[in-house]
Amino acid sequence: MSKRAVTVEEEALRIIKESGKKGILQAELRKILNIDSREGSRLILRLLRKGVIRRKEEMYNGRKTFRIFYVETVQPEGRLKIKPGIALHIPCFTCPFLDTCGEGSIYDPNRCPYLTAFINQLKKELKGKGRKS
Ligand code: SF4
Repeated sequence: MSKRAVTVEEEALRIIKESGKKGILQAELRKILNIDSREGSRLILRLLRKGVIRRKEEMYNGRKTFRIFYVETVQPEGRLKIKPGIALHIPCFTCPFLDTCGEGSIYDPNRCPYLTAFINQLKKELKGKGRKS
């Protein structure tokens, strides 16, 4: 993943977040970011995989498209509530191997030291918060 892709991704997320409950059409987002439909689709798929956005099918000018919404909370395994800001620190967000990463692949989330370190740090922080209250 190039440095430019990271910047576009962060900018996209900021725009989607600012669109609030209304959301933003995928085509509209592409126009603002000045990217073509292929790059736009890839960007949306990456953000969907990270769980930081959701999309809803919609008809616009007689064509099927998607409206994109920011996801307020991420609940891994349905147990932990994580603030969306934390999602930006998930190592996969900036990982150059994201497109090829998967179970059984050379880059496997089950064996990834970066993801493991992130989860352990998160657990430590949540444990610390639990003790204070
Ligand atoms: S699990 Fe590890 S290798 Fe896979 S995308 Fe995330 S940081 Fe990259």
